[in-house]
Amino acid sequence: MKLVIVGGVAGGASAAARARRLADDAQIVLLERGPDVSFANCGLPYYLGGEITERDKLLVVTPERLRERYKLDVRTNSLVESIDRKAKTVQVRDLLSGRTYQEPYDKLILAPGAAPVRPDIPGVDLPGVFTLRNLHDTDRIEQTLDAGVRQAVILGGGFIGLELAENFVRRGITTTIVERNGQVLMPLDPEMTTPVADELRRQGVELLLGQAAEAIQCVPEGLAVRLPSGQTLLAQMVVMGVGVRPENHLAVAAGLDVAPRGGIRVNAQLQTSDPDIYAVGDASAVRDFVTGEEVQVPLAGPANRQGRLAADHACGRAVHYRGTQGTAIVRVFHCTAAITGASEKTLRRTGRAYRKIYLHPAQHAGYYPGAEAMTLKLLFDPQSGQVLGAQAVGGAGVDKRIDVLAVAIQAGMTVFDLEEMELAYAPQFGAAKDPVNMAGFIAAGMLRGDHPQIDLETALGRDGAGQADGKPLLLDVRTPQEYAAGHIPGATNLPLDELRPRLAELPRQRDIAVYCQVGQRGYLATRILRQAGFRAANVGGGFKTYRLFPQRKEAGAG
Ligand code: FAD
Repeated sequence: MKLVIVGGVAGGASAAARARRLADDAQIVLLERGPDVSFANCGLPYYLGGEITERDKLLVVTPERLRERYKLDVRTNSLVESIDRKAKTVQVRDLLSGRTYQEPYDKLILAPGAAPVRPDIPGVDLPGVFTLRNLHDTDRIEQTLDAGVRQAVILGGGFIGLELAENFVRRGITTTIVERNGQVLMPLDPEMTTPVADELRRQGVELLLGQAAEAIQCVPEGLAVRLPSGQTLLAQMVVMGVGVRPENHLAVAAGLDVAPRGGIRVNAQLQTSDPDIYAVGDASAVRDFVTGEEVQVPLAGPANRQGRLAADHACGRAVHYRGTQGTAIVRVFHCTAAITGASEKTLRRTGRAYRKIYLHPAQHAGYYPGAEAMTLKLLFDPQSGQVLGAQAVGGAGVDKRIDVLAVAIQAGMTVFDLEEMELAYAPQFGAAKDPVNMAGFIAAGMLRGDHPQIDLETALGRDGAGQADGKPLLLDVRTPQEYAAGHIPGATNLPLDELRPRLAELPRQRDIAVYCQVGQRGYLATRILRQAGFRAANVGGGFKTYRLFPQRKEAGAG
């Protein structure tokens, strides 16, 4: 069998190595247009920031190693120009000599990745304006940084943009992020990105949300980025991180099916519309594990796994790609944000019924020094309790919870399973009731009817759900001091510890939305009230969740 692979980084190199392990006698040709294979794109921002100090460390495997150990025919500086599906050949241009030749294949794996989008605005091609995809880009950015950059503008508040911002600040560069949307990190729900935006600003990054660059011009100070508001941002470097577009031109020219957003369509075996041609990684369009929608998810984990599975199938093994969950994580200074599965906005858009909870646990036992806080949001099916998605933002321990919940989603687990999960515990690492268990207790209690919860939108009467007799009474059961420091406008304060003797002060004919700081005292108050015959429900996540919505006004603060 002769296997030809286009693209020698995440998906392509994984496919090549896997194919070799399965078929030692196969002829495997790895064609990469750049000078490097198997380099660590994910490490590039940290090399620029100086956290990764040696460039060589970014070269995970060299072409020589792939040739020696894996007996791969690795050809760098080799651009695949076209595919002849009938003849089963690809046309290759040797970029060093200029020579072109036909390379026959039995099976072809396309792993060409995705190219950074360059917005269609004047000035994107000026010197000093960059995108970041590979080591070549990194070297050019590094040279410019070394030449003296005092101010940088990053267009796009996605994963790469935020990572770059952190690393530029690390180098002492005054950094501005311009993001078209009203939030950073678009895969997450907006309120879950508030702590990230706060952390960026705390670290001195200027974050301009809801704005897009209109033009970039040369000025004596370097570059000027013009915004529609009339504001001009001066910089010596502009980096664009506004998204990526699948490199699909080979596939399109060869008549392979592509999805509306450009990803090369594949089946569960990663085969394109031509069964002898596979597509993997950022260039492909795959199924979303939760919604079943066709999606393009440019992440390293899926690219590597898909490469491995395509090689398995090309070598005759039965495979079934389960789809992509979009499990992703980013560190932004001292804040970590992560997501797995569907977001609330995706569930809304697809019309899928869901319920949600928020909790604000510590990463490990509170009595052990150094516990860091996180906010966890869980989305689940209102009937079965199946976990549909999770997001977490905070300090240490965010990664572990999202990974556990990613496994739960893939295993088709429910919130009732989360209650039962037995997770490693010692005070330095977690809690005897881990945040994942706690999420299960809250969500399962809600579905069993033990713990009626009301979403903030409903409590505030803004989701159109409407209350039969008007808006619910907002009952703040925190201490008067907490109440005075900030509360939801219109809320009545009745501290939890005074609740039982003062029940007569509360209306029996009106819904009561109880809240505390994070939800726990609200839960206790709700139990007391319901057993006393009141129509009470707890506002999930309490005042801390309310504060994640920056557009919501606060009373009494200051
Ligand atoms: P790539 O890794 O892009 O490889 C495709 C290769 O194909 C390229 O080298 C290209 O030169 C070559 N090629 C394209 N067309 C041709 C052709 N016609 N002929 C020959 N060769 C061709 N993901 C995460 O999950 N976590 C992270 O922290 C993370 N950080 C990132 C940081 C940066 C700065 C970048 C750029 C990406 C990051 N990613 C991260 C995304 C991740 O790197 C990609 O999802 C992954 O590399 C995709 O793998 P791929 O094999 O599909 O494409």
